[in-house]
Amino acid sequence: FKVPDISNEPMRAYAPNTPERKALEEALAQMEKELPFEVPCIVNGKPVKTGKTAKQPMPWNHANYLCTYHEADQATVASAIEGALAAKDAWESMPWGDRAAIFLKAAELVSGKYRYKLMAATMLGQGKNAWQAEIDAAAELSDFLRFGVKYVEELYAVQPPRNTAGSWNRIEYRALEGFVFAVSPFNFTAIGGNLPGAPALVGNTVVWKPSPGATYSNYLVYKIFEEAGIPPGVIQFVPGEPAAVAAQVIGHPSFAALHFTGSTFVFKKLWKDIAGNLDNYKGYPRIVGETGGKNFHVVHPSAEIKNAVLQTVRGAFEYQGQKCSALSRLYIPSSLWDNGFKDLLLSEIATLKVGPPQDFTNFIGPVIGRPAYDKITDYIKRAKDAGGEVLIGGSGDDSKGYYIQPTVILTKDPKSVTMVDEIFGPVLTVYVYEDADWEKTLELVDSTTSYGLTGSIFASDRKALIQATNKLRNAAGNVYYNEKCTGAVVGQQPFGGARASGTNDKAGSMAIFYRFVSARSIKENF
Ligand code: GLU
Repeated sequence: FKVPDISNEPMRAYAPNTPERKALEEALAQMEKELPFEVPCIVNGKPVKTGKTAKQPMPWNHANYLCTYHEADQATVASAIEGALAAKDAWESMPWGDRAAIFLKAAELVSGKYRYKLMAATMLGQGKNAWQAEIDAAAELSDFLRFGVKYVEELYAVQPPRNTAGSWNRIEYRALEGFVFAVSPFNFTAIGGNLPGAPALVGNTVVWKPSPGATYSNYLVYKIFEEAGIPPGVIQFVPGEPAAVAAQVIGHPSFAALHFTGSTFVFKKLWKDIAGNLDNYKGYPRIVGETGGKNFHVVHPSAEIKNAVLQTVRGAFEYQGQKCSALSRLYIPSSLWDNGFKDLLLSEIATLKVGPPQDFTNFIGPVIGRPAYDKITDYIKRAKDAGGEVLIGGSGDDSKGYYIQPTVILTKDPKSVTMVDEIFGPVLTVYVYEDADWEKTLELVDSTTSYGLTGSIFASDRKALIQATNKLRNAAGNVYYNEKCTGAVVGQQPFGGARASGTNDKAGSMAIFYRFVSARSIKENF
């Protein structure tokens, strides 16, 4: 058994009147007709309706909701954990090729049969426009599944130990002892698939708590794993009240690892809770997390203006700035700012239409929910109160959906609140520096925030690119030259950052899989 060559899922363009556009429109219309859906927990392959329900509202029309879901209660979480432990031996012992085939099949279902349905759920439930949904629920999700199989094959083959005469050494990459807890975010359906998927692929069983904001699309992802043949109990789908589910799962003595994407605050809280339980566990749990970012574009005076502007607009405002990687602070030399950059930036932003995601002319959709809307609008207010100048946008409309205009704030204070804090919304703060201060500006980029996720350097002078790359050694785990700081592609730009942004275990690469195996060396004498 050898895994076939893997390439990235080709993206579809959804131009009007194309077959893919029609198919997506039909999937959207169908879903709008059928909603709201009812989503159970799934334990040992069986739906569990606890009767304790919550709703996933639609951010573009918050009076309505996409699904009602059953929240896992204590008994459900307990049986999910017991079932995951019971399913482990058979899953781990399954021949690797059979395990791999389930994931390759799931990838085919994602990119084929369920592509438009998954995209529709991501658009209606998480507020992505069609192209953002394509990047995520179609392309990235199937890439995670396919490339994962390739990487695990490589991992299993890595560095076979040397032998001496009369003996044979071997190393096996066993799954962890216990079960893995996956906690996934609202902002990428693909991450919903990867957080339980990656540990499961190397033989772990997983208790998965999806984000309340992505319950329906994540449920569809679970159903795809099921249709692809994942055995009952390998992935336990337990939506529920996050703090209660987490406390119970982390309190279990067989808890072996956390695979997390979400806020820095919650990640730190879980880490501390895990530390507090350390004496109860069999081992030292693996903790893998990707959290926030305060990502930058730093533009050198030699940069080409038009490209830098277009990349800036996309980096800051695609998906309403709700990517961990989204651009939110821009450092621009006054020579460029005053000679075209500012005008082009504002005129490009003025063309962006804001509205419901299923209208293909809208670039900007709603932010995910009420708390996000309030937090983002509050940041805009605080920036203004502190002397920031709103150059465009600055207002919102939450009457029907949670819409916030793409907003640019000009600040004279490089440590002002919207230069420092993660906002997770369509807000870009600009700091204009004097051309002669390029090196001082790099120092500012490095020291302004506690995060270190993504960043881009714009320059046509290659020396400046290298200088900035060296200086910003720890400021970003993903660095781009003359391109926006979002949109890492599985297999091409392994993704993750350090500092307060996470454990930097690089999703979309082989590295992540090492975290979910526990190797055993065996020496046999003949
Ligand atoms: N990988 C995504 C990107 O590069 C971001 C993932 C996230 O938001 O967590 O844009």
